[in-house]
Amino acid sequence: MKKHHLRIPGPTEVPDSVMRAMQTPMLNHRGEEFISIFKQVSEEIKEVFQTQNDVLIFPSAGTGAMEAAIVNLFSPGDLILSFPNGVFSERFAQIAESFGANVERIQVEWGKPVTPDTVRERLTRDTNHEIKGILFTHNETSTGVLNDIKALREAVGNHPAVILVDAISSLGAVDLKTDEWNLDAVVTGSQKALMLPPGLGFISLSAKAWTMVEQSRMPKYYWDFRAAKKSLEKGQTPYTPAVSLIFALKESLELMKKEGLPNIFKRHLMISGALRAGIKAIGMKLFVDDRWASPTVTSIEISGCETQNFSKLLKNRFNITVAGGQEKLKNKIMRIGHLGYVDKMDIINVLAGLEMALGDRNLYGKGVREAELFFEKGEMGQ
Ligand SMILES: *Cc1c(COP(=O)(O)O)cnc(C)c1O
Repeated sequence: MKKHHLRIPGPTEVPDSVMRAMQTPMLNHRGEEFISIFKQVSEEIKEVFQTQNDVLIFPSAGTGAMEAAIVNLFSPGDLILSFPNGVFSERFAQIAESFGANVERIQVEWGKPVTPDTVRERLTRDTNHEIKGILFTHNETSTGVLNDIKALREAVGNHPAVILVDAISSLGAVDLKTDEWNLDAVVTGSQKALMLPPGLGFISLSAKAWTMVEQSRMPKYYWDFRAAKKSLEKGQTPYTPAVSLIFALKESLELMKKEGLPNIFKRHLMISGALRAGIKAIGMKLFVDDRWASPTVTSIEISGCETQNFSKLLKNRFNITVAGGQEKLKNKIMRIGHLGYVDKMDIINVLAGLEMALGDRNLYGKGVREAELFFEKGEMGQ
């Protein structure tokens, strides 16, 4: 018997009730029954985005939703600012570039966040408002860094550029106030904090983003937001929706509503804090400073071939799956995902696995104990 502990930053574990919802018999995607479900989830997902604006839902990976945001908002030649500090922020820039945007990258060290000063400095030089868009990544999953979107948004100030946020590994786990913070396009995917299997992409759009959509000249057909909006008004999608995933979404939104967003955010902070305390206690080195550590993915520095051996050990002995580093962090870090359907005992479990995999009996229980104390402190604080 092998019980699987999936500790990667997506796809994440899926609650049983969400899996069961996927087994609802197929129905006519143009019929009344489906329309009523689609209208319901399209309304409820707005709460998770903390927006009053429409959220478009596409059958796609998260990257598809990123591409959709780019091709619907911009035209070839548009100047777009990017602050790459990891694989996913770099990907956002590459997508824009591949559709002919003029992307200006301001490189940020991997493992560090984008600072408001960096943003402010560049924008104050843009006196003619040539910059049309700014790409931010809320949670840089490849390093485990959380960018402070509120502060970055404030740094943009009154500059008219539209602000796009990749919130794929944060939305529904970390507070992100789409409307209050004035974010123009926020993108997420189903397989991270939303506790669903992969296959849905989501995009929210501000009124300003919609004016950009009207002017955009990048090529698109499947991703055309105008078609999606027109269909959404009738509770529909232009092309066949991922019907089973929409059933699943209805259930996961219900679970999220029951717990409440503030409690979900607290749970992720509690879990990441305890995990970090435990990792420190067993002498492993955290890749990212506490000040900008992600609440959803934690990176541990681990050198050379040890990374793969260690991950293999965790998988073979305890059936815990963790993620490795990507690109220039390959064989340099190990990443533990803790988002979505994850609780305190999942963290105890992974810490116990780390302790045993290190193979030093003197460390047994040390990380677990720190995590337990962290939880206790949190519970008493509540
Ligand atoms: C997972 C992830 C993506 C890519 O999502 P896919 O569904 O694999 O395309 C993009 N950005 C961030 C921040 C992510 O965590």
